[in-house]
Amino acid sequence: MQAVLKHAESTHQLQKQDIVRLLEDEATAADLFAAADRVRAAYVGNEVHLRGLIEFSNTCKQNCLYCGLRRDNKKITRYRLMPDMIVELARKAQTYGYKTVVLQSGEDPYYSLAMMQEILLRIKTLGLAITLSIGEKTREEYQAYREAGADRYLLRIETTDQALYEQLNPGMNFLNRLRCLQDLKELGYEVGTGIMVGLPGQSLESLAQDILFFKAINADMIGLGPFISNPDTPLKAAGGGEFSLALKVMAITRLLLPDSNIPATTAMEALNKQGRTIALQSGANVVMPNVTEGEYRELYMLYPGKICINDTPAHCRQCIGGKIAAIGRSVAQHAGFRNRKSPEQL
Ligand code: SAH
Ligand code: SF4
Repeated sequence: MQAVLKHAESTHQLQKQDIVRLLEDEATAADLFAAADRVRAAYVGNEVHLRGLIEFSNTCKQNCLYCGLRRDNKKITRYRLMPDMIVELARKAQTYGYKTVVLQSGEDPYYSLAMMQEILLRIKTLGLAITLSIGEKTREEYQAYREAGADRYLLRIETTDQALYEQLNPGMNFLNRLRCLQDLKELGYEVGTGIMVGLPGQSLESLAQDILFFKAINADMIGLGPFISNPDTPLKAAGGGEFSLALKVMAITRLLLPDSNIPATTAMEALNKQGRTIALQSGANVVMPNVTEGEYRELYMLYPGKICINDTPAHCRQCIGGKIAAIGRSVAQHAGFRNRKSPEQL
């Protein structure tokens, strides 16, 4: 196993079977995390990029079995933030020092193309980088968002097991999701994808396949976290994912994509009080602190146990800054686009 790790650390390549063995093996877990931390330091450095997350609507037309925002969940109170409020949150994010805002929502047709363009153009005048995470759209819509100033797009593939994907996402089509990622890449976005770890019916082979998919599409950003069972969804009886397995998937992803941007996700911290700090020391180099205000934080409930629902954006900024300083890292003062290394450098 040590030889496999060494090989991965120096060549950034792994065979599927070796990924499975690393995922299974407990004895090498600490060495895996240390190797991922070294690769992170060597390729993307000690700076941590902060992205201010604005959860602007919890209304969704999709019905993903795992998610609390799914259309058939009648137990949550739905909200939508108006463009003025979204722009105001972006402006505040800037005052906390964020260089990027992430606009995330359910798939909510209320926000017409014209509305999104207006929001993007107004935020762009602030000089912020913008990441969108608003689901599957047409190529024309992606192009229009890009022209209005969107720089990056997050769209997790969730799982690369097509049958599992289509079972978990009724009415959605795996090939369309791939089409979206392809369109986004062609339109010049920095493209982020990712998965949930520990979905019911997901095997270690499937996780290995997911990691190889990130490598195959050369994803600029990879967000992953444990699946957390939500009592208001059809997966209420499913056992959730484990922190340690999610961390291993993340660490192996860092070994294979050394120069990508990898967030220490909120879901990691939902399962472990030190989750984001541990993730930052096991390959991650990005954190997405919440800048949504008031009751909306709590209403944007993808899964139970969401962290920081009663905190203010100012508190989150301070808290995360403290965690980063405590592990000897620093907060980046620039937008934090992927710093691609040429093949010779990899
Ligand atoms: N609607 C958009 C963005 C919001 S959902 C989209 O689906 O792309 C953002 C992410 O939350 C999803 O990609 C999914 O990976 C994650 N998520 C949803 N339900 C979850 C759960 N129960 N546990 C962990 N992560 C979850
Ligand atoms: Fe909607 Fe995204 Fe949740 Fe699916 S994961 S129900 S698309 S918010």
